[in-house]
Formats: sequence, structure tokens, C-alpha cells
Amino acid sequence: MPAPSKLPPFDPADPLGIDDLLSPEDLAIRDAVRSWAADRVLPHIAEWYERGELPGIRELAKELGSLGALGMSLEGYGCAGASAVQYGLACLELEAADSGLRSLVSVQGSLAMYAIHRFGSEEQKQRWLPGMAAGEIIGCFGLTEPDHGSDPASMRTHAKREGGDWVLSGRKMWITNGSVAQVAVVWAQTDEGIRGFVVPTDAPGFSAPEIKHKWSLRASVTSELVLDEVRLPEEAVLPEGTGLRGPLSCLSHARYGIVWGAMGAARSSFESAVAYSKTREQFDRPIGGFQLTQAKLADMAVELHKGILLAHHLGRRMDAGRLRPEQVSFGKLNNVREAIEICRTSRTILGANGISLEYPVMRHATNLESVLTYEGTVEMHQLVLGKALTGLDAFR
Ligand SMILES: Cc1cc2nc3c(=O)[nH]c(=O)nc-3n(C[C@H](O)[C@H](O)[C@H](O)COP(=O)(O)OP(=O)(O)OC[C@H]3O[C@@H](n4cnc5c(N)ncnc54)[C@H](O)[C@@H]3O)c2cc1C
Repeated sequence: MPAPSKLPPFDPADPLGIDDLLSPEDLAIRDAVRSWAADRVLPHIAEWYERGELPGIRELAKELGSLGALGMSLEGYGCAGASAVQYGLACLELEAADSGLRSLVSVQGSLAMYAIHRFGSEEQKQRWLPGMAAGEIIGCFGLTEPDHGSDPASMRTHAKREGGDWVLSGRKMWITNGSVAQVAVVWAQTDEGIRGFVVPTDAPGFSAPEIKHKWSLRASVTSELVLDEVRLPEEAVLPEGTGLRGPLSCLSHARYGIVWGAMGAARSSFESAVAYSKTREQFDRPIGGFQLTQAKLADMAVELHKGILLAHHLGRRMDAGRLRPEQVSFGKLNNVREAIEICRTSRTILGANGISLEYPVMRHATNLESVLTYEGTVEMHQLVLGKALTGLDAFR
């Protein structure tokens, strides 16, 4: 090993030198998203969070479209055709601002657009994807129901054929972007198994009341979808992706973005804790000079950068077409769980200030409570891995 003086300097922001794995194009995309978030989101996010709103969501969506962040890793139809690693870097930077922003982008790109791109007809793709990539059309993805979350196979929303039409009835719950969406991808039981439907939200019988009183993801629109005999033409059904395979493959794509995103929330909290520990003095010394604080900082840095490295590894596998759903579960389980721990530990370093919205830490921590649950709870990912490790299915 060369003498330390001959080595590149230690970078506290990148202690493992992970940036060496990134191309100049990767770095340019990351920097563009980071500076957009610093300019457009960070100055306002605490206020939006306190108000429980994401004002200007349509404008923000268009700006995210101009950045190429919507349907970022999809090919054609106005999408950026970026690599999985580049998409992941964008998710990390957006979630470093707020999980609500990353949720908007994940649902739009990895759920609604991905479903149409992967399972839709050419006509559906032409009709919806360019406007969605530009952020002019906002989409949502309705899988969860009031009585069926982790077990979507038991969903009750159903569609039946009537003449040449489909008639769709049921309720979906906790749907991100629901009340602002112009298009909803809705999954329903049919005589042919579970099928996906592309539903224009101005269709008669469709409504999307917003869910209020959330204490997590407050700067994100979450809604119920009510489908009261919504009549749709034959062309509204996604021709491919029959059965649970359809929605599950969309979820796998979105979960991959979360593997990266969660590390963004963790990074923001960790940076807050480091900065605070260097200026806050107790017992006549900066608290960062106490061994117990340094142990917390060191342990957080280890988990943060291990998590980023893991996200990177999964991204490279996805780019090589070798990423398995079990590996996505591995990443989501680890990174969201560790991100919450980093936020909680950061909060302790900030003491009472840690609970204030003047710092991002508590906002990230409460956001991550949703992230821990959506796109498969901790327990669901443990069961996925448990089954893969033992060959024994413990879901029921
Ligand atoms: C802010 C937010 C946004 C969301 N956005 C969307 C969206 O855009 N689209 C969408 O379709 N959904 C969305 N969801 C819903 C989310 O995906 C579900 O909440 C999630 O799948 C869990 O379902 P549930 O809440 O019904 O919990 P449940 O499935 O009722 O689970 C409750 C608890 O029981 C555990 N559990 C269940 N089954 C088992 C088992 N077999 N073994 C052990 N433990 C078990 C779970 O792990 C969990 O801890 C969102 C949720 C939130 C909070």
C-alpha cells in the first residue's frame, strides 16, 4: 500500500471513494438534480411539510420532466433512456430534499409510466407516455385497497365486460398523486385474472378524495380512488401483464429507486448531525469532540456508505439485466431500515433541536416511516428473502 501522502485525500462526503465508480455523465446528472432540488425544494420544504401540501405540484412535475427525471430509465416516447445507476442517483438527490418529491417521481416513472411502457399497447404508449415524461400529465398507480395491502391478490376491485366495454368498480387506498393525476393505472380482478387498466381520471364515476391528517410524507399528495361503475373502452386494458406479475414487476422497479432514495434522506440527516456536532458546545467543547458522539457518527457513516455501495451494486446488476426481485428486496429491507436508524441517531445528536422543522432530520425520519411500509413492508421483504433462502413459503 502506498504511503498515505501519495493517496487521494480522505473525503468525509465520500469516505469510500464511491464517486470513482461514476462516469462524468453520471456525475453531471447527479449534480443537475441536486442543484435543482437545492434551488426549488430546499428553501420551501419545511413550510410545505408543516402545511401538509405540495403546492405548485404541476409546475414541479414539468420541471422534473425537463430534467429528464420522469420515466428516466425508460426508452423512447420522450423518456431520457438513462441508466439504472443514473436513475438511482436522481432518486437519492430528490429524497435528500424530501421523500415526498422522490415519491412523486417514483410513482410517475417507475409505477404508472413503467406499467404502460412494459404492458401497454402501442396506442396507449403513444397517447400517455410523452406527456407523462414531460410532466404535463401526472399519473398514479392504484393497487392497495382499504382491506388489502400486503396481500394484493385478494383485492376486491373488479372489472367486468359489458358489450365492448369494461365496467370498473371498487376502492383503492393510500394512492400517491391520486387527486392530482390525470391518469390512473388501476389493477382489478377480472374473469381472466388480475388486469391493469389505464383510466383517465375525468371518466364518469371516478373520484379521488385526498387523504388528510398524515404525519408522514406530508409534502406528498395521497388519496383514495373511488371507482363507481367506471365505463372504459376495450382499449383501456393493458394487453400484457395479466395476473399479479404485472403490478409486482412495477413494484420491483419502484423499490429499486427506494434503495437509493432512502440513502438520500439518511445522507441529509447525517450531514445535519455532523455539522451540528462541530458547532454545538456543551461542557466547554463541541459535542462532536466527545467519543460517544464520534462513535455515533462513525457508525452512521459506515451504514450510509455501505447502503450507497449496495444501491450501486444493484444498479449495475439492473443495467446488466441481472437484477433479481429478491436482490431488490435485500436492498429495500436494508437501506430503508438503516436510513431510519441514521435519522433517529442524528436526531439524538441534535438534542431538542432535532425535533424542530428547522432541521431536516425529524421530517426525514417521519417520511421514512411511510417508506418502510409502502412498496412492501419490512416483513414482506423478510418473507421474500426467507423463501429464497430456505425454499419454504411462509407468506400464509
Ligand atoms: C404515504 C403512502 C403512500 C402510498 N402510495 C401508494 C400508491 O401510490 N399505490 C398503492 O397501490 N399503494 C400505496 N401505498 C400503500 C402501501 O403500499 C401499503 O400501505 C403497504 O403495501 C402495506 O399495506 P397495509 O398498509 O394495508 O398493511 P397490511 O398489509 O395490513 O400490514 C399490516 C402489518 O401486518 C404485517 N403483515 C401482513 N401480512 C403478514 C404476514 N404474512 N406475515 C407477517 N406480517 C404480515 C405487515 O408487514 C404490516 O406490518 C402507500 C402507503 C403510504 C403510507
